[in-house]
Amino acid sequence: MPSPRTKLSAPPRLPKNGMRITPLGGLGEVGRNMTVFEHAGKLMIVDCGVLFPEEHQPGIDVILPDFTSIRDRLQDIECIVLTHGHEDHIGGVPYLLKERADIPLIGSELTLAFLTAKLKEHRITPKTVQVEAGQKHRAGVFDLEFVAVNHSIPDSLAVAIRTKAGTVLCTGDFKMDQFPLDGRITDLRAFARLGEEGVDLFLTDSTNAEVPGFTMSERDLTPAIDRVFATSPRRIIVSSFASHVHRIQQVLDAAHAAGRKVAFVGRSMVRNMKIASDLDYLDIPKGLVVDFRKIQSMPDHKVTLICTGSQGEPMAALARMANGDHQIQVGEGDTVLMASSLIPGNENAIYGIINKLTDLGANIVHKGNAKVHVSGHASAGELVYCYNIVKPKNVMPVHGESKHLHANAELARKTGVPEKNVVIAQDGVTVDLIAGQAKISGKVEAGLVYVDGQTIGAATEDTLAERRLLSGGGVVTVVALIDPKTHKPVEPVEFLTKGFVHDKKTFQGAAAQVEKALVQTRTDGIDDIAKIEEIVVETVSTHLRRTYRREPAVMAVVIDA
Ligand SMILES: [Zn+2]
Repeated sequence: MPSPRTKLSAPPRLPKNGMRITPLGGLGEVGRNMTVFEHAGKLMIVDCGVLFPEEHQPGIDVILPDFTSIRDRLQDIECIVLTHGHEDHIGGVPYLLKERADIPLIGSELTLAFLTAKLKEHRITPKTVQVEAGQKHRAGVFDLEFVAVNHSIPDSLAVAIRTKAGTVLCTGDFKMDQFPLDGRITDLRAFARLGEEGVDLFLTDSTNAEVPGFTMSERDLTPAIDRVFATSPRRIIVSSFASHVHRIQQVLDAAHAAGRKVAFVGRSMVRNMKIASDLDYLDIPKGLVVDFRKIQSMPDHKVTLICTGSQGEPMAALARMANGDHQIQVGEGDTVLMASSLIPGNENAIYGIINKLTDLGANIVHKGNAKVHVSGHASAGELVYCYNIVKPKNVMPVHGESKHLHANAELARKTGVPEKNVVIAQDGVTVDLIAGQAKISGKVEAGLVYVDGQTIGAATEDTLAERRLLSGGGVVTVVALIDPKTHKPVEPVEFLTKGFVHDKKTFQGAAAQVEKALVQTRTDGIDDIAKIEEIVVETVSTHLRRTYRREPAVMAVVIDA
């Protein structure tokens, strides 16, 4: 069987009774989850999320899945199923709807509520179909059935997709918390029933496949959270994902029991908590939550603030508090409770915030020093249970970096899924399910699409390479006014800099070199100004590299006097 490492080309035509599964994001990375299912000439999509940029992607807002391979077939899309309301599963929807606005969005009540609020900010009114766990829905050639799963946001769904090619079961993000706060457990009885009926392909969450054992229950955090409320002398500032309704419920309950008041801080936190409470996913005791302005005049030991920024996002409330750039001035005796995960890639930003808040005198409680966070994903033990219950014919690990996908594949094999039926794909790699056998069949375009301000896909890898160069060495602009006949500078060559450190001597040698190179262009009969500028850039770059071991971005402006 071809592996994704072998060179793959466009897949062949899909046979009538086959199904093609194309992950456009989420395989080989944690984020921008999106999978396209094709059968009988029609498409359906499961999730459409974003990926957040890392330090080596400066200036990028978010990263989208690449829609190139479906752009010509937008009219064939029957629906998009959203498994849950996390950004890495719904964040890309506004961008796909900009290409075709009336694609029906299918999801649970809370998922659609979060998504609709987000689409409103993009001025899009979507066509939605609300479903609940246990429900079936027919979307053209795709017969869908939704199954309750437990995750770090309420109302998450797995989806079974039945077609003439067989039954595919996608877990979405999930875990198997046996004591969830809302009592809604992952419906293993439905998994078993589907397994009994025959699951031809099982797409499973790989995020925690390397973690042995079982993910602890959300409820196990209660003692640590209660301890914070019992021992903190002044304000308690809690940071969390704005979608982690159950974690926030625990904080609300603890605050209520301790006789404190709560204010939500940050636009997305205020918006999501209003939605969650309006729809009864969040139970706010009467009088507990007060307006942010009002809480500022209350005594410190009565105050709880729940804010965004748990991942160190520079514009979020917590980072601004750490930088002294927020109405809330953190000080001696305040407690900051970071009730969240530490997503790889965000470590530096988060530790930076912890240090700054510590310097301000705050006591920081985080997952490194207290039991204040559990993961939202199934560990190895839970995944093995699922394989044994579902007994799938084929398995395709999804949602995770390569190492997670491989660890998950190994678990599937351990439970007896034959080696040839465990398919490890990557973004863009097509997997065909034909006559009960899943196989890699080819590859379509699936690059990283960068959103930068109002532009989508305009910033490229080259742009980012230039930005990294600028951030590393600064910019030197060389301005030369030359005599058109001799190409000799008529005034001293000027050097303008941004972020490039230099002294008086730095450019003396460079000026002489530039003059020499300019005269040489005359000798060589080069009259094209753009070409001359290129030569000046090369001359200055080489000089600075050789003499000073420095590599700024160099630009040249040559003007014919
Ligand atoms: Zn999730």
